[in-house]
Amino acid sequence: MAEALQYHRLVVKIGSAILVDSNTGQLRAKWLGALSKDIATLRASGTQITLVSSGAIALGRQRLSLSGSLSLAQKQACAAAGQSLLTQAYERALGSQGIIAAQALLTLTDTEDRRHWLNARSTLETLLELGAVPIINENDTVATDEIRYGDNDRLAARTAQMLSADGLILLSDIDGLYTADPRENNSAAHIPYVETLTDDIMAMGSGANSEAAIGSGGMATKLAAAQIATGAGCDMIICDGRQIGALSALNHGAKHTHFKASDNPKKARAQWIAGMLKPMGKLYIDDGACKALRSGKSLLAAGVTHMSGAFNKGDAVCIMNADETEIARGLVAYGADDAAKIIGVNSADITQLLGYDNGAALIHRDNLVML
Ligand code: GLU
Repeated sequence: MAEALQYHRLVVKIGSAILVDSNTGQLRAKWLGALSKDIATLRASGTQITLVSSGAIALGRQRLSLSGSLSLAQKQACAAAGQSLLTQAYERALGSQGIIAAQALLTLTDTEDRRHWLNARSTLETLLELGAVPIINENDTVATDEIRYGDNDRLAARTAQMLSADGLILLSDIDGLYTADPRENNSAAHIPYVETLTDDIMAMGSGANSEAAIGSGGMATKLAAAQIATGAGCDMIICDGRQIGALSALNHGAKHTHFKASDNPKKARAQWIAGMLKPMGKLYIDDGACKALRSGKSLLAAGVTHMSGAFNKGDAVCIMNADETEIARGLVAYGADDAAKIIGVNSADITQLLGYDNGAALIHRDNLVML
């Protein structure tokens, strides 16, 4: 593939309106076959790919012969009946390119609550390391109204943030952001590049309501997604994904809107850990551990001499050296009660002491910032 999509870690969101034919309610298998080829090409050039795919409700609706507007319970039933079809389709399409698809259904809590977040992140990281393509959707079948995203635009942006992705592409039925809804207003102008999400840009979300007929995301949720993604150091692109081979078309310059990341993902994440989160405790570490952290390693329990605070797994904690100076900050992988049992011990003994193990590190290096 050509130059444009040179991202290290890319999240691609696929809207219902492009994956499911709105007339027949059937999945567009040819389109998905071409997408899988594009994914294989991108992966071969070194890009890690995660998909966030809608379509469960649209496919389930057809499968269960439901029409018209649906109640929440009916939508959830559709999601259950449609999700398995959706996964099978990805299995087949990616499988034909020799790629392993791995389904992950997330709820709002999994991306908002830091304890869940760390778990989801490490599962997805592991899948990427193992060479699989995670296929994410919201767990619509169990999510209740108050704890639902309801649209996959924001779920995709949260996923990009969670994975410190540097690129997010929303494959939609509209080729980007317009000054007004182009379907209603002839003078609406396309905006190819957004450097900063100003109030004027955010106001453009109120009109154009793409995917309204079949999916649930409109331009407003796409701009909300842009806020999340660009703030997390991730570029975001909206393009019309309906044509066969949409990703390679984009790569060869198809019309789109590019929202520029405000920083790089590593820096954005470090800022978030260092500045935004209130530390809930302190870990005091020995000189050996200080040295290890400075050379970019994770913090192991063995290097912690004592601790204070009532923190939960996923909370931010301060890391103090022997002089009681804060040298780093990070998100802790064990809550205070369990951390107290394992500090000073070898990582290999964690399972025996706790009855489980949440990784060898008390704070993984990806969740740690040196100050
Ligand atoms: N999770 C929903 C589905 O799979 C889609 C939500 C959306 O349209 O963004 O049908």
